[in-house]
Amino acid sequence: MVRTRFAPSPTGQLHVGNVRTALFAYLYARKHHGQFLLRIEDTDSERSEAIYTEKLMDDLRWLGLTWDEGPDKGGPYGPYAQSERLSLYHEYAKKLIDEGRAYYCYCTPEEVEASKQKMLAEGKPPHYDGRCRHLSRSQREAFEKEGRKPAIRFVAYDQEYRLQDVVKGEVHFPRGMVGDFVIIRSNGLPVYNYAVVIDDYLMKITHVLRGDDHLSNTVRQLMIYQALGAPVPVFGHMALVLGPDKQKLSKRHGVTSIEEFRRLGYPPEALLNYLSLLGWSSPDGREILSMEELIHLFDLDRLSSSPAVFDYDKLDWISKHYIIQMPLERLYEMAIPFFVETGWVTENDLRDPEKKTFYLGVLDLIRGYCHRLADIKDHLVYFLQENFPIEPEAEPFLALETTPKVLHTFYENLQKENREIDELVFREMAMNMMKETGVKGKNFFLPLRIAITGRVSGPEIYFILPLIGKEKALQRISHLMMKLSQR
Ligand code: GLU
Repeated sequence: MVRTRFAPSPTGQLHVGNVRTALFAYLYARKHHGQFLLRIEDTDSERSEAIYTEKLMDDLRWLGLTWDEGPDKGGPYGPYAQSERLSLYHEYAKKLIDEGRAYYCYCTPEEVEASKQKMLAEGKPPHYDGRCRHLSRSQREAFEKEGRKPAIRFVAYDQEYRLQDVVKGEVHFPRGMVGDFVIIRSNGLPVYNYAVVIDDYLMKITHVLRGDDHLSNTVRQLMIYQALGAPVPVFGHMALVLGPDKQKLSKRHGVTSIEEFRRLGYPPEALLNYLSLLGWSSPDGREILSMEELIHLFDLDRLSSSPAVFDYDKLDWISKHYIIQMPLERLYEMAIPFFVETGWVTENDLRDPEKKTFYLGVLDLIRGYCHRLADIKDHLVYFLQENFPIEPEAEPFLALETTPKVLHTFYENLQKENREIDELVFREMAMNMMKETGVKGKNFFLPLRIAITGRVSGPEIYFILPLIGKEKALQRISHLMMKLSQR
């Protein structure tokens, strides 16, 4: 049975880099009809905050990366937050002590540092020298009497370790890399490298996918697996996601947290589709893949060992594809907050069955011009506002000598047109108007568009006109004519 997990530390916003590994773990579990777990690694009590746990669960739910076992759901191997598992860490530490694989260490930080310096002076690797390994009972009691609280230190064997990593290939950790290391601090809290092994072992995790910033930690983890006599899971360490300048992806490249992508209105399935391509590729090279297809096609042997570069343009391209393809009703539900955010319409209006047809029609028209839902505002404005801005690109067309004549003709023809305006009617009108004015092409069409929308591009005029109505269209044309005449 495949069991994978996502084990975030609730110390900040969920980041695309983390979610990418969560996605791979999720896909692999789903592909093999296994389980995907969520475990909260919150033993760093100074940096962890409960609010981030709530936030990250909310983001994962929004993405649709649902977990089978986790802090909110429970499961057979809980609890699923490390802060609630302290007794387990102590129980196993006690076992390791009884077996001679760990010991109480009473050294102060200064003494530890001094011992490392001494090793260095002797020409040895600067590890803790193990002076507490063989304390007698009376020595321990003496330390306790002084009020010292012991840490628990693991006995590191001086041997080499090898890892068959599914992404990196064979990784070799030579001898002497680590000395005896603390697994439980004197304050009773476990360190990451220890807690993660106890948890992955007790939760029967079979595959660990994570960022390669954890690769150097893995040797300590292998040592602990060995000491526990526990099976080592399959490891895959993904190279970190880079920004376009090949530096680690960070805020200075643009948005990076799921919350921000959410706020900009990227559909979750588009974001996941894009993230799946960061370090993985489908066997036939297709890039637009539904969740079902991803689950079907995903495999560990197609994970790439070279770092992936986050390409915002490509994400936009994929996102636009989803926005265009999505069932309109679903897009509408997603778009409601973005409509409301403009301040031009209320949620009640949007939910009013009589008004809804109009808003649905508008959304259907403008969705082809949006990379994310925050973009709807640019095109929504000329459907919902009369004082929409005129974009600077329009200026050369407004300055044309022929434009007042074109607008005037448009006004007159529109006024006397009694048929419902559709594509055919509009084309016929345009043909006549071009004949009448002697103006053709962009110089003819763009002034019309600018009068109605303030923009030089967007949906076809004959789709826009029926939605805004003849009355408003005439007002807009005459408004622009007046503006031009005052120049
Ligand atoms: N809590 C660790 C992190 O967020 C988890 C690393 C792991 O997956 O082992 O980086």
